[in-house]
Amino acid sequence: MTTPNQHIDIPLLQEKGVQLYLKREDTIHPLISGNKYRKLKYNLHEAKAQGQHTLLTFGGAYSNHIAATAYAGQLHGFQTIGVIRGEELESQWQNNPTLRLAHEHGMQFHFVSRSDYRYKNEPRFLEALKKQFGEVYLLPEGGTNDLAIKGCMEILTAEDARFDYICSSVGTGGTLGGLINASQSHQTVLGFPALKGDFLIEEIRTFAQNNRWQLVTDYHFGGYAKVDQQLIAFINRFKQQTGIALDPIYTGKMLFGIFDLIKSDFFPPGSQILAIHTGGLQGIPGMNAILKKKNLPLLDI
Ligand SMILES: *Cc1c(COP(=O)(O)O)cnc(C)c1O
Repeated sequence: MTTPNQHIDIPLLQEKGVQLYLKREDTIHPLISGNKYRKLKYNLHEAKAQGQHTLLTFGGAYSNHIAATAYAGQLHGFQTIGVIRGEELESQWQNNPTLRLAHEHGMQFHFVSRSDYRYKNEPRFLEALKKQFGEVYLLPEGGTNDLAIKGCMEILTAEDARFDYICSSVGTGGTLGGLINASQSHQTVLGFPALKGDFLIEEIRTFAQNNRWQLVTDYHFGGYAKVDQQLIAFINRFKQQTGIALDPIYTGKMLFGIFDLIKSDFFPPGSQILAIHTGGLQGIPGMNAILKKKNLPLLDI
């Protein structure tokens, strides 16, 4: 599957003499958004090949990966179990748009406390889950594993060789790993982490097969799922100018960062930049509910 590269036409880009295209991976599907489809593809093949009937995975209350796993699992005939961070959600998950959606697509939830959730990769914790739920195909948080990285390599096509820079948002780094490994020797891959922390560099080093990449760490806006008025205003303005919706957790922060770098002449004139729209739009209603409570301006849908 290939998705279109859409040319972004905004005065600043002409002024600076750079070209920006957005790869519309968000158009793959509203729920199996962009990179989550790529990450699930070969894992679903593998689960089938192993004769597994149930997928078990992990995520927070607004996780795009939880939504995607529920939907794709149902589509391909799997039972799905979501281990969800936050015991308090047990009694009120119906108020959460992402979890409601996942439930509608057949996902069964197992809520765990924030402190237990930290053990999500520990063999003992996983063994306990297997005891409770029986034989399952395990997908790690965010869906990142070797098969996910293989799937993300398919985001880039032969035609994308004309770009000098490939940009993506970073959560676990699996998507960036795929892009790095699929990039060509004249290209630089820029990752924009959506969360704070230096651990990502080490993590991505374990996936990356070359050194043609760097992380731009200045645009996390205080941490995972943290937003401010400036970011919301940017996302709403971008939508007005281009008609393209961005999510506030990943792609909004990346594009804010790209435009900031363009303003400060990071990209030499003549640069051809490809940014990946990794999707995530299912999370907007959930974020708007939070913004409303905080009396902040809302994201236009
Ligand atoms: C999950 C997600 C990411 C981050 O992908 P990783 O492979 O975990 O780095 C980026 N954008 C969107 C919209 C996502 O849902």
